[in-house]
Amino acid sequence: MSDPFVIVGGDAAGMSAASKAKREQPDLDVVVFEKGDWVSYAACGMPYYVKGDVDTLEDLVTVSPERFREERDIDLRTGHEVVAIDPAAETVTVAGPDGRFEQPYDDLLVGTGASAIEPPFDGLGLDGVFTIHDMDEADEIEAYVSEHEPDSAAIVGGGYVGIEMAEALATRGADVHLYEMLPHVLQPFGEAVAEVVEDHLDAQGVDLHLETAVSGFTGDGKIERVEFEGEAAPADIAIVGVGVSPNVDLAEDAGIELGPTGAIATDEYGRTNDENVYAAGDCAEARHVVTGESDHVPLALTANRAGRAIGQTVTGTPTPVGDIAGTAIVKAFDLGAARTGIVDEGRAREAGFDPVSVSIDASSRAHYYPGGDELTVTLLADRESGRLLGGSVVGREGAKRIDTVAMALHSELTVTELQNADLAYAPPFSPVWDPVLTAAKVLAGKLD
Ligand SMILES: Cc1cc2nc3c(=O)[nH]c(=O)nc-3n(C[C@H](O)[C@H](O)[C@H](O)COP(=O)(O)OP(=O)(O)OC[C@H]3O[C@@H](n4cnc5c(N)ncnc54)[C@H](O)[C@@H]3O)c2cc1C
Repeated sequence: MSDPFVIVGGDAAGMSAASKAKREQPDLDVVVFEKGDWVSYAACGMPYYVKGDVDTLEDLVTVSPERFREERDIDLRTGHEVVAIDPAAETVTVAGPDGRFEQPYDDLLVGTGASAIEPPFDGLGLDGVFTIHDMDEADEIEAYVSEHEPDSAAIVGGGYVGIEMAEALATRGADVHLYEMLPHVLQPFGEAVAEVVEDHLDAQGVDLHLETAVSGFTGDGKIERVEFEGEAAPADIAIVGVGVSPNVDLAEDAGIELGPTGAIATDEYGRTNDENVYAAGDCAEARHVVTGESDHVPLALTANRAGRAIGQTVTGTPTPVGDIAGTAIVKAFDLGAARTGIVDEGRAREAGFDPVSVSIDASSRAHYYPGGDELTVTLLADRESGRLLGGSVVGREGAKRIDTVAMALHSELTVTELQNADLAYAPPFSPVWDPVLTAAKVLAGKLD
């Protein structure tokens, strides 16, 4: 009798793989070990739970543990941590409520995700200082805000999580200060986006402290002040959102190779250097569609898609996990900000391109149709080949147009080919020339 398909981690990557494998081969034994209690949860929705847009944490769960067990026949074991992998013996060691045991596998998927980085700050252990990466943390933050009704909030880090939490805590009545050590917020989105977002945050009453490094927090048991650059300011709550690092220790200790980014190295099928061990999601690398190099961009679709593909591969239909373009979108109060591919000229040069870029402002709807607003579209291309390398979109309406740019990257289109795409038009939705087409037209002119 063969051994089961074993999965470590019960969220996006892990449960997608489990569900797909079971659907493809119903008689396959699939065992999932999840060290926590939550499975198949949308971490992406947590800021909106704290804000009050989502009523309960349970609303963020896509499929309940009971449904996985009863309807999908998946052997899902919450409260079980995998503490070691032995690739030679094809077993994992599991620590569960009844002690340790060995679980054999035929195929293994490491879907251990990432963890919030905890910088070496003073006062990280004070009450009211949080990171937000799992559901329990979201629960604690919401409970703390409800109990203490903070007047002032310090957000450390101007990435997408920091910006979403700034909106959440401002909506809950706090005076929000956002600290970012770099010259701009949303660094991966490029300057054109960052400047629009910064103006908007300012207009919304968020106090931005750019090029300001926080060193820690002080208070008597509970946070009272945030410390930065030799100064201090009052803070009743702090959210530290300075990025994530992939959870790779389990794999690395077993001799699974890491890639140049520090995440688990995988091939196009999500396979590691061990034939029967796969890795997917926030703990793993993926191939960047523009550079062709390994990259680590921990986002939800990447995890779901790779998990699903691996579920198919282990059941006999080899399926590539797909390339990534780093396509991302974030809501900052009334703005949408989005990016895909390479938006930074320095990075484009490092990848061997000769970048040319344009930024244009255009209306999101026909100029005479009510309700439209200005949209800034930036596109970057390679001078010699005309190939599109990346882009960004920011505005109150229509930032999801980034998907057009992302599709162009996946199809390796030139700027001229993008310019000639047949996109939808009617006055309530777009000008005749969609802003993405206008940007492509201007960039094509510059390339000529
Ligand atoms: C606040 C926030 C907002 C986000 N917003 C967005 C967004 O808007 N758009 C977007 O694309 N992405 C967003 N993300 C990122 C997205 O949530 C992740 O990319 C996605 O959850 C990754 O899924 P995963 O399965 O790889 O890892 P995870 O979701 O981290 O799941 C890994 C699981 O493995 C378990 N585990 C780890 N080690 C072990 C072990 N040894 N044994 C057993 N179990 C283990 C963990 O408990 C965890 O449940 C957001 C993330 C956060 C934190």
